[in-house]
Amino acid sequence: MCGVLRAADAGKKAVLMGWVNRRRDHGNLLFIDLRDRTGVTQIVFNTDRNRAIHEKAEGLRNEYVIAVIGTVKLRDANTINPNMPTGEVELVADELRILNESKLPPFLPSDTALTNEETRLKYRYIDLRREVMQFNIETRHKVAKAIRDYLSGEGFFEIETPFMTRSTPEGARDYLVPSRVQPGTFYALPQSPQMFKQILMISGFDKYFQIVRCFRDEDLRADRQPEFTQIDLEMSYPQPERVWEVVEGFLTAAFAAAGYDIKTPFPRMDYDEGIRLYGIDKPDLRLPPFTDVRECFSSENLQELAINPNLPVIAIHIPKVGELSRKERDDIKPMFHSKGGARVYEDFKRIGNKYPAAAEAIGKNVGAEAGDLIVLVAGSAQAGPQSPVSPHRKVTPQELAVYTSAGLLRLALAQKYAERHQCFQKGDFRFLWVTNFPMFEWDESERQWMAAHHPFTSPHEQDMKLLEEGVEALHDPLSPLSAVRALAYDVVLNGTELGSGSIRIHRQDVQSRIFRALGMTEEEAKARFGFFLEALEYGTPPHGGIALGLDRIVMILAGAESLREVIPFPKTARAVDLMVDAPTPVSEAQLRELGIAIRKTRE
Ligand code: ASP
Repeated sequence: MCGVLRAADAGKKAVLMGWVNRRRDHGNLLFIDLRDRTGVTQIVFNTDRNRAIHEKAEGLRNEYVIAVIGTVKLRDANTINPNMPTGEVELVADELRILNESKLPPFLPSDTALTNEETRLKYRYIDLRREVMQFNIETRHKVAKAIRDYLSGEGFFEIETPFMTRSTPEGARDYLVPSRVQPGTFYALPQSPQMFKQILMISGFDKYFQIVRCFRDEDLRADRQPEFTQIDLEMSYPQPERVWEVVEGFLTAAFAAAGYDIKTPFPRMDYDEGIRLYGIDKPDLRLPPFTDVRECFSSENLQELAINPNLPVIAIHIPKVGELSRKERDDIKPMFHSKGGARVYEDFKRIGNKYPAAAEAIGKNVGAEAGDLIVLVAGSAQAGPQSPVSPHRKVTPQELAVYTSAGLLRLALAQKYAERHQCFQKGDFRFLWVTNFPMFEWDESERQWMAAHHPFTSPHEQDMKLLEEGVEALHDPLSPLSAVRALAYDVVLNGTELGSGSIRIHRQDVQSRIFRALGMTEEEAKARFGFFLEALEYGTPPHGGIALGLDRIVMILAGAESLREVIPFPKTARAVDLMVDAPTPVSEAQLRELGIAIRKTRE
């Protein structure tokens, strides 16, 4: 291979095959850098040694595929390239065979400047020849293999589940596949193998995993893919802690495969605590948590500042940002739009001048040093009518508005000043389990409750009573349903959700009640999930599991900026594959066979 020859090989005969990466013509001497996925070797064609192949070599162009037979030679001291593993040697060519020519590609794998992404995706096969892409795909292979090996070692079976199936709800739209044999009917591509993996537990395969493609037709937000890969697993009889231990085990193996050591067990945080301390359900532990500094102000101060004294006053603390110039202050102003009754006090200096005692107390409370940035987020006293507070929720909706505004603002500021505060160091992996999520989320537009995770998640044993009461108040945002906690957990890394899972419902009556809480009548539940409800009645063991996004994990480990950099053949933000040009219209004949007519939509 082109990356393997070393000084110790000098004098040996070698055969190399690969692509012409670069060509330099020095008259008598012609140099070719020959490339394959292992690296690059310099080939020398020397007129004095062999005129005929030198002439042939003159015809070589970038990306021709060639085979060379030659002799390995130590380079002269002054031509040694210490930046290349093969930099001490070259191959002096004795024979050359041109295996295939290449048109001039739209860009070269050896180019240092990146061409635009559309061209890269259209000519993905050229793009994938680039060293970084080869590294990313190799990392993907190694990470997936480490996970497979770990899970197999723990007694998990990798079992395939169908792609042509029924709708599996995970909160997105389904991709549908029309049936030719039964016109007018459709398969759905799975949003996840959720129901199948639960059925595998009912079937006696007590430890299942699959590295599996899932399909979700979502309005594509930045960096989402309509098809993506999950590390999906399920086990019978676990406590959540057992699932976490398995995940920590395979993540340790995956990170080790990419050269990183991580510490386990990961810390754990209650969902409510995450909201109170970080304003978000996926806290980035590299940043300091919030401090509630309400106590630092007197009640007169709060009144003058039009701050609601019944809500938290959050101090966001970003260390080492340094004095902000006037322009910098203006630049960050647009981040400070207030939302849902939360209000931002950006000019801490002004507050400091006017309320020196409060400012000093705040500085002390958050442990600030000179040059740290402090921004206050508080509830506005003038915020519209107070929405009623559910007696069942620990965090009220108004508090939530303050916490989440502060959470988003803090992330935006932290990202903006990342270079200065240096909280985001490469290789600093701060994992976290977030637990005890709410079971339901209120959907204001539909005026009903939705599953926060998915409808197969088990509520807390202690909250079953709330669930029972709640199904009597389905269309009420203050229903006891608001307080039902789920046995659900997320694994978070540096503020990114890597995966979600839960202990599942294994009792048919509880599952039916959850469907009811989600607004489904018994008939609807039967029509959509009848097979599953029936399966639950035949001796279902308690079970639970999780799924993690493989693409995202590889992206982090490869140090890539986007999922598209670690997926060999990704789609664009408009869900288009630019290389094969999909999706495409199909022929009339195909449509007729499927019993499908296309209705023209108006522009
Ligand atoms: N099916 C879930 C998902 O895709 C994961 C799980 O609950 O295991 O997010």
